[in-house]
Order: sequence, then C-alpha cells, then structure tokens
Amino acid sequence: MAAKSRDGHVWTPVGGFTTGIETDAVISPQTSISTSHNNVYDVVVIGAGYAGLAAVRDLCNQKQSVLLLEARDRIGGRTYTAKKDDFLYEMGGTWVTHHMGYLFREMVRYGMDRDLITTGSPNMEKGFYTINVAGVNPRKLSHEEAGAMQAKAWDMFVNVDGQYGRTICPLPHAQLDNPIVPRSTVEQWDKVSCQDRFEEIKHKLTSEEQGLLVSLLLHISGGNLEDSSLWDMVRSHALLMHSSDNFTDVWLRYKLRDGQTELAKRMFQEAKNDGLNFAFSTPVASIKQSASGDGPVTIRTVNNQTFRGRKVISTIPLNVLKDIQFSPPLSQRRQEAINIGHINHMTKVHADVSNKELERWNRMRFPGHLMYGYADGALPNGDVHIVAFGKDDRETFIPENDANKTIDALNDLHPMHVKRLLLHNWSTDPYSKGGPAWWRPGYMSKYQDELQSRHGNILFASADWAHGWRAAIDGALEQGTLNARTAFQENNNVRPKDNIVGNLLTRALSMCVPHSYDDIAVTRLIRGEFDRTKVPQHPVPHMMPSTGDHESKPAGGIKIINASLFRMGTKSMAEAYTILGYRTHHAIDDPFTVPWHLIEEAAEGKWPDVPGARPRRPYTRSDWDAIWGSYDVVTDVASPFTMDLAQAYPDAIFVVVQRDFDSWWSSFESEVLGWCFFRGAQPLVAIFSIFGLRSGNALRKCFLGFFNAKSLEDIKSNAREAYDRYFNDVRRLIPEERRLEHKLEAGWAPLCAFLGKEIPDVPFPRLNDRAAHTAHSRANFRNSLSLVVRNVLYWMVGVFFVGYLAWYLQGHLFSRD
Ligand SMILES: Cc1cc2nc3c(=O)[nH]c(=O)nc-3n(C[C@H](O)[C@H](O)[C@H](O)COP(=O)(O)OP(=O)(O)OC[C@H]3O[C@@H](n4cnc5c(N)ncnc54)[C@H](O)[C@@H]3O)c2cc1C
Repeated sequence: MAAKSRDGHVWTPVGGFTTGIETDAVISPQTSISTSHNNVYDVVVIGAGYAGLAAVRDLCNQKQSVLLLEARDRIGGRTYTAKKDDFLYEMGGTWVTHHMGYLFREMVRYGMDRDLITTGSPNMEKGFYTINVAGVNPRKLSHEEAGAMQAKAWDMFVNVDGQYGRTICPLPHAQLDNPIVPRSTVEQWDKVSCQDRFEEIKHKLTSEEQGLLVSLLLHISGGNLEDSSLWDMVRSHALLMHSSDNFTDVWLRYKLRDGQTELAKRMFQEAKNDGLNFAFSTPVASIKQSASGDGPVTIRTVNNQTFRGRKVISTIPLNVLKDIQFSPPLSQRRQEAINIGHINHMTKVHADVSNKELERWNRMRFPGHLMYGYADGALPNGDVHIVAFGKDDRETFIPENDANKTIDALNDLHPMHVKRLLLHNWSTDPYSKGGPAWWRPGYMSKYQDELQSRHGNILFASADWAHGWRAAIDGALEQGTLNARTAFQENNNVRPKDNIVGNLLTRALSMCVPHSYDDIAVTRLIRGEFDRTKVPQHPVPHMMPSTGDHESKPAGGIKIINASLFRMGTKSMAEAYTILGYRTHHAIDDPFTVPWHLIEEAAEGKWPDVPGARPRRPYTRSDWDAIWGSYDVVTDVASPFTMDLAQAYPDAIFVVVQRDFDSWWSSFESEVLGWCFFRGAQPLVAIFSIFGLRSGNALRKCFLGFFNAKSLEDIKSNAREAYDRYFNDVRRLIPEERRLEHKLEAGWAPLCAFLGKEIPDVPFPRLNDRAAHTAHSRANFRNSLSLVVRNVLYWMVGVFFVGYLAWYLQGHLFSRD
C-alpha cells in the first residue's frame, strides 16, 4: 500500500473530510545526506516538482554534488498521483501530449512514451454532453455537437489576426523575441484582457455559446476575465498548432497509464542512483549570498538548518516566492512581479459516484462553483470516476471545508450519488498558493525576462515562467533542464573552446562555407547550444588587472551603465569602478575572451541593414544577460547599446562621461576606427573570423550601425550627428535622478557620492592615453596573427598526417601484392 502524504483531502460519508492521501510520491526515508558533502554543494536545488527533478537528475548525471530541498513529504510538486482501491487519481497536472518536447523526451527516456491511456471511457462517443447556461434551457448534446460548439466559440475568440494567431504568435516558445514579429507588436497584444476580447466578439455568439466560451476561459485561466490575459489564450492556441482540431488531443485526452508519480519517481531514482542528497519536509525560509557574488550561497530552512551551494536553483512557484527572504534583496522589478503573482486559483475535485449512466458523460454549467465535469473511467468496483473543475471562487467556496457545498456543486452539474471525494486545494496549499500559472494582461511584457533571469548565483526555474508550455509539465521540465545546464557549465567553466571535436568541425565548416553559412549557428548547433536565449553565461574574465580575479561571479544584472563612447576615459572609469568593488567589463583590450559573436549578433539585431548583417531579432534581457549578466558595470563595447540596455535593466543607473567632440574624434578616428577600417582590413577580418576571432566583425558592425553608415566615409560624415544623438538620447530618456554627469578631473568625490561609496584611499585612475592604447592595439593585432598562424600550422600538420596515413595504408595494407 502506498504511504500517506500530508497533502490532499479525502471525504467519505462516514469519515467526512480527512487530510492526507495515499500516494507513491512520498519519499522514505525523508532525508539522505552524505556527510562528505556537508560543506558546499555544487548545486542546491529547491523544490522536487518536475523543474527540480529535471535539474537534479541532469546535474547528478554530470557528477555534480547536489542537494535537493523540498518542503513537502513527497516528489512531484503540483503533480502527484493518489492511489485508492487500485485506482489512480491525478491531483494536479494530468494531461500529456507528444507535442510537449521536453516531456516526451522524459517519457521516452523512461520507456513510458507508449504507456498512455485516454480520458473518459471506451465508446465515449456513444455517451452524451449536457450544457446548462443561465437563461437558456439545459439540454443534451452529442459529444460531437458540443465539440463543434466549443470549437466555434474558441476559434472566434483566439482568431485575433484572421490567421488564428499565426501572425502574432508564430513560435510559442519565442513569444517576445522571435524573428518574425517585433516585440512592440507582441507587447500591444499582451495588454488585452480576455474580457476586452470577449466584449468584442460576444454579439456574434448565441447565449449558449457565450456561456460555453466564458466557462472555458475561466476553466483554463483559473481566474476571472478582466485579470486574465488574452495573450495566454493566443499562446495556448499556438501550442495547439494554431488549430482547435487539436484542442482535445493536446489538452485533455492522454494521461500516463501509471500516473505522473511514476514518471517523477523514475527521474528521482536516477538522480538518487547518481548520488543525490536530499531532505524532504524541509521548507526553505531564506537564501543569502554576498553582495559581491563571492563565495557560496547560504540557504536557511524554516527549521533553522543551513546548507550551502556554489549555485542554487530555486523552483519555488511564483506565488510562493514572496515568503522567501533574499539577501541581497531581489531586484525591484522581480519583487513587483512576485507581489502581483499569477491569477490561477482553479478548483479540481475528483468524485466517485455510483451512477453508471454517467460513464460516458461530460458536462458544462455556467455559472457554478464547478463548471466542467468529465467522466474519467470506472473503478474496479464499478463506480464511475468524475473529475470536475471550477474557477477562482476562493471567497465563497473552499471545498475541503464544506463537503455539502462540494456535493451540491457536483449535483448542479448532474444529479449524482457521491460516494467519495478526493481533492487538493492548490490555493490554500502554502507551497503552491495557486494552480498552473496564468498571467495578467501586460505581465509577460513587463516581467517575463526578469523572472527568467538570475539573481547572482541563484537561478530561477519554474513552469510559471517557462518559454513555451508555461503553466504545464513541459514548461517545468524545460526550466529545470535549461537552468541545470547553466549551473553545470558555470561551475565547471565549460567554455565553447573546451569542445574540441565541435571546434574542429566548426572550423572545417567555416572554412568550407565561411560566409554563405551562419557559422555561429553552426558552432552552437555542434556545441549543443540550441537555445540562443540561454547561451551559457560562461564566465568572461575581468579585463582589469587590479581585480586579480579571473572567475565569473554573476551579479543578477547590470547595475551601472557607463554612458560614454570609446576613447572617452572608459578604461580609467572601468578601473575606478573596479577599485570601488564592482565587477566591471571593459572589453576593447582583449579580443580573445569577450563573446564577440554575441556582440556581433546584438549589432545585427539592432541594425539589420548594416553591411554583412544576417537576419536577427533584437536582443532582449536574457540575451544581454548572456553577455554581461555577470557584471555590475559595463563600459566601452556596451556603449553602442546604451539605450537598449537601459530598457533591459530598468533599475540600472548611468554615469555619463562626455569628452568634447573635436578632441574625442581625433583620438577615436586614429586609435579605434584606424584599427578596424585600415586598407586591407576586410580580408584580414574574414581570415580572423574563420579562426573564431570575431572582434573585427563585431566592432565593424557596431560602428557602422552606430554611425548609421555603410562605409568608413559615411562614419566620418555622420560622426558629429551620431555623437550628438547619443548624448541627447541619454539625457532625454534617462531621468536626472538616475544619472551622474561626470568628468574624470572631478575625481572620486562626485562618483562616490552618486554610488553611495566611501572615497578610496588611492588616486583616481588615469589610464590608457593614446600611446598606451596604440601599444595595446598593436599587441592585440600581433596576438591575433600568431593565433591564426598557429592554427594554420595545426591544419597543415593534420592534412599532412592524414595524407601520409592514406599513402601508407594504400601501400602496405591494401596493396594487391
Ligand atoms: C490542478 C492542476 C492541473 C494541472 N493540469 C495540467 C495538465 O493537465 N497538464 C500539464 O502539462 N500541466 C498541468 N498543470 C500544471 C503543471 O502541473 C505545473 O505547471 C508543473 O507541474 C509545475 O512544476 P514546477 O516544478 O515548476 O513547480 P511545482 O510542481 O510547484 O514544484 C515546486 C516545488 O517547490 C516546493 N516548494 C515550494 N516552496 C518551498 C520552500 N519554501 N522550500 C522548499 N520547497 C518548496 C513545492 O513543494 C514543490 O514541490 C496543472 C496544475 C494544477 C495545479
């Protein structure tokens, strides 16, 4: 017999409501911590739902030391399978489909991809559907008729663009940042509520269709129409391949034969076999890391235990995060997103009933505490199993507190004799505080990037802000997988060049088709970096010698943007920030360690008409994070993107350092442009890029884009205008209170006052005069050339060796004599 979890409620006429349900999801023993990891884990994962299980399994596979902390006594989070009288009840997430890529991969991995059963009963089509909308006589329909009525209303609702969402949400896994629809267009749609859309189309629907549509929308969103975003419906429809023909098959038909808990158990078991440490019934209370990002993250539990990890992956649901204390505090925007939370407070109730005629029955009623009822199989004793759903009725309907009201709500759907109820109230549950996340109008545009971003060494993984199947099992698996990969790569300094085979292949491909092919995409494909928004935030070493620290320390987003162009004291400023304790990026000195290919992509996304640009979408927060997410301050190479970064990091402050045009231009022209655009530069840049050195490509595209130019001549003639536009924009768009106008000669005092720092006991740095810059540039050029020459030699040796081997084999092994 399965162990009893503390979760869930069961009602019988004799016993009334009792708390706790039998499920194989309960883990025994609850704790297994090997003393050898008592110190600092590579990764601590919080939460044993699907996001957490995917993360721990992947990390343990990679031989990381991992600790899983879970508040409940069981695995599965918002999914678990209760077991009663040899019948399985899905208490949360239930329906699966092969359209869910991450989930399907797991089902295949554990041999469960064929073990599906369907909702309902055999010969369901011979059953009936009852529809009961206020003001219209209830009536009986065939399932086919009901399906057609639902499809008509739903199609009308989601067909906002005449193409069933295809033109505004072509790629549901890339909603805000896809190559087809500008972000601003998506943001406009994202503002619309389900209520707005309903008002627009309701006159085209009969009262019955209206009732059916509204109840369906409330069933899906678990909230109310005003607070529910139309976009989430359009996104859902896009996930149905933009066709309501797939509605039932994708959303409501297939279940795992052995239950969600079986899949979760197999994932957990694999992690355990690979050395997972875990502690169940261990709710986390606070997560603390040093402000500088140094050292491990400390997690304190409600029971006052402490654990430490180099990285933390929190899978704590959106509506629960406000109970956790973070130090340093979360960004203002993330905290705002958390305070608002999601709106899904749906009710789900299982009922065993003795009415055999309901075996092939479905039902909708509107309004009602329970609006949908589905017959879903028969128990071994012949009783019929009904699963029913309601919207957010928390004010008036807490099912586990009022059995009579719950049974009345079921009887309102259809008269029935209820013998047993099973339910889990996800809204009163302190570890979910709601059902599957459904967002408010405008929420995605404002908060998605922030929710998906990191906070220093804390990564956040949850179905509640997944890219594609948000609010679904697949989204949880997506998030666990992606964040585990980031944690592993950062912990192990996995950098693209570590993949020797991938690199060789990339180079070979680049040599064959250097420009007709997107060699960066090829590089990523070979390296397994399929998701461009989650390019590993592998450490970019600090350039400033005074840090003495060449390890990445992610900081949770850029805090200070040094708004200033190249050759305007950026190196001195970078050194000053470093002295003040900020992780500072100053790139121009080092062509080898900066992710130039990403900077080049950013330029292509921003200035699609720049010569040589390949089609890209504009960069968004997660992309910028991939370049500069581990820094507090950005300087030189970030300057062409100042306004984009201002949008992506709304909490950042600005230090404006402007040098007068004439003296700046003469230095910039000779010291920077000269190195990028000298006669003969073009073929050299092409050769360098074959060997993976893309700094030349990136800088040329940045400069051409920034100066709105197609050539060096254009840059020269547009220089003054671009210079003025840049500083005007900064001053016009960044409010004064977030901006310091700084002069290097003013030294520490104004800068420290603005940043709230003590004045250091060293002179304000003055570095990188013209002579020093020239020397640097020369050295970089020499280093690039010698790297190319070295690589050419390697290739020649390789070709010679292969040729020799072929000659030898031909002569000695395959010779006919
Ligand atoms: C009623 C219902 C029906 C659904 N139906 C479907 C469906 O049919 N198909 C589908 O694909 N999806 C469905 N979903 C959605 C899906 O189940 C969820 O989106 C997904 O399971 C969430 O996974 P997660 O790992 O992101 O979060 P969770 O599963 O919530 O996991 C988070 C874990 O963190 C733990 N935790 C929380 N706070 C703390 C703390 N302080 N300390 C330690 N641990 C903590 C929680 O206990 C939990 O185990 C449904 C969800 C519900 C509730």
